[in-house]
Amino acid sequence: MSHVAVNYRPLPVTIASGEGAWVTDTAGKRYLDLLAAYSAVNFGHRHPELIATTTEQLGRITLTSRAFDNDRLEPFAEALARLCGKELVLPMNTGAEAVETGIKVARAWGYRVKGIAPDAARIVVAAGNFHGRTTTIVSFSDDDTARVGFGPFAPGFDRVPFGDADAIAAAITDDTAAVLVEPIQGEAGVIIPPEGYLRRIREICDERNVLFIADEIQAGLGRVGETFACDREGVVPDLYLLGKALGGGILPVSAVVGDRDVLGVIRPGEHGSTFGGNPLAAAVGLKVVEMLETGKFQERARMLGEHLEAGLQKLVGQGVTDVRVAGLWAGVDIDPAIGTGREVSERLMTRGVLVKDTHGQTIRIAPPLVIRATEIDWALEQLRVVLAD
Ligand SMILES: *Cc1c(COP(=O)(O)O)cnc(C)c1O
Repeated sequence: MSHVAVNYRPLPVTIASGEGAWVTDTAGKRYLDLLAAYSAVNFGHRHPELIATTTEQLGRITLTSRAFDNDRLEPFAEALARLCGKELVLPMNTGAEAVETGIKVARAWGYRVKGIAPDAARIVVAAGNFHGRTTTIVSFSDDDTARVGFGPFAPGFDRVPFGDADAIAAAITDDTAAVLVEPIQGEAGVIIPPEGYLRRIREICDERNVLFIADEIQAGLGRVGETFACDREGVVPDLYLLGKALGGGILPVSAVVGDRDVLGVIRPGEHGSTFGGNPLAAAVGLKVVEMLETGKFQERARMLGEHLEAGLQKLVGQGVTDVRVAGLWAGVDIDPAIGTGREVSERLMTRGVLVKDTHGQTIRIAPPLVIRATEIDWALEQLRVVLAD
């Protein structure tokens, strides 16, 4: 019997090593990784530059705590702020911690800057959201599996339909501190909002003196063919929530990035993390930012994404009912007559392709951005065969 708690139901594969877009199981069988750890492995497994940076930093120092400064944190923060066009970076570890930090910052800003009465601040969120697994975050989820049985829930959130900017405007009151959305909903199945949604949120937030918080933890850092998913509409949120790929697939690195007038509300002692901003994480995060600054990965995501989309469109009507593609990121809805997303994922696994189902009938495709066009073609051929079986 396994001693691992059963909080996941993984596909029956045990991975032992990986390189680039490929992983190898304990029996030596190779698989093309089309999940990339939910975008945390955007740069591929063991990217040589990231491994070199990590190895070098392991030879110097790994953890100091924020009781002392370390010589890697400022360069990381400076580079990440520049990438975001912002002034300040608050480093954390996991995505959920970045979201929790964003919520605390928004509330503090609401009380100290906007003048909301104590404990009255509210945050508008979207239906179908996924922002992580903490008790506060599941409080505003509408996924029963994530939520039911884990109350009592944190108050202060108003949920409106995703993709409907008018619903956001209608939900905002004088007590609203922030609007928190994913620019593209990942866990929900790569749900892309109507064009203009993010621009409209930006306008509404400006008009109503409300912060726009973009959870770019899965969508950001190259995945959609731009540095951020908000770039697709030329929109800059007040706070970026970043994670996943920020750790280069090596260790958890997350951050909240914003200007001084917002993120500057947090004072010493009010928020923190033992591991947040540690020198190893900062060294890796800095290298990730430098890799993104070349624009090379965004360009690959754009080009390969068009290639992937063209291939997936050919499967619509052939076992696929709908596809949604943004950069190198796709939600593929499987015809229930063929099987569930899980069954298709299992059959793909036996053919050497790893994907993950979400919400029953959808499989999500998010390969490392280093994948080759010929490898995408091979994976699509495996999918075609599985669907035709
Ligand atoms: C994965 C994810 C999170 C949570 O990140 P963890 O590192 O798993 O805590 C939050 N928001 C979005 C959009 C995510 O995809």
